[in-house]
Amino acid sequence: MTSLWIDEATPFASPSTRPERTDVAVIGGGIAGISTALHLALAGAEVTVLEQGSVASRASGRNDGQLLLGLGEHYHRIHGQFGAERARQLWDFLADNHVALREALAAAGVACELRQHGGLRLAETPHEWTELQTAAALLAAEGKAHELVPARDLPRWLPPAVGFHGALHLRGEAIVQPANMVRGLAAAAARAGARICEQQSVTTIDGEAGDFRVQLATGQQLQAAMVVHCTSTLARELDTSGLLQRCVFPFRGQVIASDGLPKEVAAQFPDYAMSSNFCYEYFRMTRDRFVIGGKRWSVPGEELGLLDDQGNNPQITQNLLSYVHEHFPALRGVPFPHVWTGIMAGTPDGLPLLGGLPDRPGTFALLAFNGYGLSFAFLAGRCLAEMITEGSCSHPSAGLFAPRRFQPT
Ligand SMILES: Cc1cc2nc3c(=O)[nH]c(=O)nc-3n(C[C@H](O)[C@H](O)[C@H](O)COP(=O)(O)OP(=O)(O)OC[C@H]3O[C@@H](n4cnc5c(N)ncnc54)[C@H](O)[C@@H]3O)c2cc1C
Repeated sequence: MTSLWIDEATPFASPSTRPERTDVAVIGGGIAGISTALHLALAGAEVTVLEQGSVASRASGRNDGQLLLGLGEHYHRIHGQFGAERARQLWDFLADNHVALREALAAAGVACELRQHGGLRLAETPHEWTELQTAAALLAAEGKAHELVPARDLPRWLPPAVGFHGALHLRGEAIVQPANMVRGLAAAAARAGARICEQQSVTTIDGEAGDFRVQLATGQQLQAAMVVHCTSTLARELDTSGLLQRCVFPFRGQVIASDGLPKEVAAQFPDYAMSSNFCYEYFRMTRDRFVIGGKRWSVPGEELGLLDDQGNNPQITQNLLSYVHEHFPALRGVPFPHVWTGIMAGTPDGLPLLGGLPDRPGTFALLAFNGYGLSFAFLAGRCLAEMITEGSCSHPSAGLFAPRRFQPT
């Protein structure tokens, strides 16, 4: 089972032959591995990506394609969880990510249906509306571009919607076709000199900094001076320090998509990144189709701990359809034949891992984006490339994500 995005995407056209030796071996060809490889190659490093399937075949090609701000959370909640200073740093990191990503997509001529009309966070309940107003007050105090939309004005913003209690529009958000975006960036990385090798499953990593031996399922190996883990939660055992197994956990998201809507219906839906219920449900248009994910909280176990992205949960599909029928009556009776799932990686504090693994010289990680990697990983890959090539990273927020925060003292 693959996603609509992967089914429609252009295949990655420049797979490389695996060399015997490389300076940096990046394991995993999702947005994290591809961005890291692109920036390492641009900095002149010799880099090889080893991807067990094809580029963007896992979460990076199975998500909802929303480029979000603030880790998808309402802003005052980030303030509450991390404190004002770190909340601002997080927001700035994501805002900077989007600028850097847009520039790179334009420079490389990547065709990925980028739509930059902002995002609409809708209030599912009167309580969420009061929370959105609190978030808006903080955004206003910090000069961050947004509009608060009371329920009476919603028909102007989202004509087919019913039953929401208001919304917050964030100008800096956007949507993309994610598989084409990541594959386009992979092509740019290959042009910059990165070797991107598909169908290369890594089984173990032995040795030490300067002389790692990356073993492949085929029995062959790649020698590397440094190793970067960009495998999300799919190969935690490759990190022999145990940190990834201790601190990174899987959970599964599910998405459904309609067939093409009648022209007059499709025309009523703007190209926003949209969500409600504190971003637990998320939806958008892609051309004339409606795509929606979420509802994992509505089933026992909340899809936590699952690593299988070949199956799906029929109850979640039903619950997503009920949501669609309740809030968008114009879509009642519209078939949703596409269903897919993707595996995300979480951490106990909700922040990703970016940087060197403690007590493992020459070993780095960029993973566990807690469901927001599409919005985060491009700039994070640049930061990691700087750490590898220059020893430190100039972005003031990068320290928030250091893996050493999970090292027992
Ligand atoms: C349903 C859903 C909706 C989402 N919606 C959004 C959204 O709208 N906005 C947003 O910002 N984020 C969203 N996300 C999250 C986002 O997709 C992820 O955070 C991001 O794609 C993670 O990228 P990654 O490179 O870390 O992982 P992945 O894309 O999973 O890449 C990891 C790669 O490692 C490879 N790999 C694993 N083991 C090995 C091995 N042993 N050897 C070699 N290669 C290996 C895999 O094949 C895979 O390609 C969503 C995710 C899901 C599932």
